[in-house]
Amino acid sequence: MSVIDEMLAANSRYAEELARSGQQLLPAARVAVVTCMDARIEAATAFGFQVGMAHIIRNAGGRVSEALRSLAISQELLGTRAVAIIHHTDCGMLTFTDDQLRRRLRENLGANADHVAFLPFTDIEQSVLDDLDAYRESKMVRQDIPVRGFIFDVQTGRLNEVLPATARQPVRSR
Ligand SMILES: [Zn+2]
Repeated sequence: MSVIDEMLAANSRYAEELARSGQQLLPAARVAVVTCMDARIEAATAFGFQVGMAHIIRNAGGRVSEALRSLAISQELLGTRAVAIIHHTDCGMLTFTDDQLRRRLRENLGANADHVAFLPFTDIEQSVLDDLDAYRESKMVRQDIPVRGFIFDVQTGRLNEVLPATARQPVRSR
């Protein structure tokens, strides 16, 4: 059986077991999480969400720029009022550059991806800070709600908050 056939078989079992009792379209916890597609992040379990509670928006790296479309829909149409941006240790995005991936796509598939930004990064903490900035710079998403950034440690399963520099600097007295 192919891996997708196995997925379909698992889904059949899931569907048979699922009790469809009063699930709502609007996420009950009114929170959207932007995180990486990494297979080790079991987002709902790791972050304490049950079915129907939260929007989990995933892409390679958990990059905000790629999630803005979904965040706008999540907030404007589906009422979420908090955002957690979660990158993680040992991320695949630390392992390549745009040029390397573009070259591979050209060599292996004959594709010209020179115009595509794959959004790799070299520093996880900085990537979270960059994505907090990317969020703050967007006019499509709400600025009057809590937006916080984290690094998920794939070894320990712990979330560690990344605070913007402004929040980390001690207040200076004159
Ligand atoms: Zn990742």
